Amino acid sequence: MDLFEYQAKELFAKHGVPVLDSAVIGTAEEARAIAAGWGGRAVVKAQVKVGGRGKAGGVKLASDPDDAVAEAGQILGMDIKGHTVHKVMLAETADIKDEYYVSFLLDRTNRTFLAMASVEGGVEIEVVAVENPEALARVAVDPNEGVTETKAREIVEAAKFPADVADQIVEVLKSLWKVFIAEDALLVEVNPLVKTGDGKIVALDGKVSLDENAGFRQPGHLAFRDSAGADPLEARAAAKGLNYVKLDGGVGIIGNGAGLVMSTLDVVARAGARPANFLDIGGGASAQVMADGLDVILGDPDVRAVFVNVFGGITACDAVADGIVQALASLPALTKPLVVRLDGNNAELGRRILAEAALPLVELVDSMDAAAERAAALTLAAQV
Ligand code: GDP
Ligand code: MN
Repeated sequence: MDLFEYQAKELFAKHGVPVLDSAVIGTAEEARAIAAGWGGRAVVKAQVKVGGRGKAGGVKLASDPDDAVAEAGQILGMDIKGHTVHKVMLAETADIKDEYYVSFLLDRTNRTFLAMASVEGGVEIEVVAVENPEALARVAVDPNEGVTETKAREIVEAAKFPADVADQIVEVLKSLWKVFIAEDALLVEVNPLVKTGDGKIVALDGKVSLDENAGFRQPGHLAFRDSAGADPLEARAAAKGLNYVKLDGGVGIIGNGAGLVMSTLDVVARAGARPANFLDIGGGASAQVMADGLDVILGDPDVRAVFVNVFGGITACDAVADGIVQALASLPALTKPLVVRLDGNNAELGRRILAEAALPLVELVDSMDAAAERAAALTLAAQV
């Protein structure tokens, strides 16, 4: 999970990486009082999970409170590489003398952690990495040892940081490593890490990507979940613990097992329609999971027809059929057709349960291809 800059900086502050005072706002007018509190000057920064905001016009300097409101108004709602800006960060301005780069990341190829550092940080770091790779030092970090004083000095020397900032950079590296380990991150990056006019080192930008596999031991990270940025249907599905991805077609898809759902998307496409979503309800699909899945899919205004494609394995088809019957009883009456294909363990029994329930708008089709064609035809018919 990638974090917004303001969230990354919260973690920086928590572990002692020096940052400047900042605040996050959702409406331009809020900028006035905040900028005034800093004597009028402020940096106004778009909060989007994509790099290169500076070049895209998403980072602006405001010289007084009116200007801060105007810049915030300009940036809010802006589109940066397909990401809409819903929040801006106001930060105290820094008198920048030098821009450096430091990061820690998981180096999967070499099965270790990697430190990267450069005295040529700033918005052109990607160009530096390509055209002048020796200016970007790479130092492996043994996961068992971590970033000790010695390791931090090694990184500082490899990147040739000037002597006057070396000690401060060593401290920043040790604190940044704490962020990386204590927060179970896959990436922590500071670009630029700056030297100010009075010789201080501060992190002006921050990028953190957290390892969601460690979520179970990081309850605090739940607060970083971005429900506003996500698709509302995906957010609703996530709240119900479903494996759901919104797509752009009109056929709602429910299947059990990721492989089956992927091939369901393919057969629907071959039948000439487009899937509205990916939804894998898993192996032990209970009535509740079926109800939750149907609830999300039927709530999608793009869905014209639903294709339930189940192959009974460990979960027998009669249990799935019971689930569909119970799910439909617990939901508002169907207004969209539901095409069901059941195969595998206890398929006959499952089909009989559905046939006997005689649910309006529910159709049973025997084969996966025929069911896909039927769902596609119903979807196309509903469009005209
Ligand atoms: P990015 O383009 O998305 O990486 O956004 P950054 O936060 O790195 O900002 C881009 C650039 O804006 C930085 O490299 C700085 O040169 C400049 N910048 C950011 N914050 C400040 C600030 O407080 N004062 C000044 N003078 N420049 C800033
Ligand atoms: Mn940056």
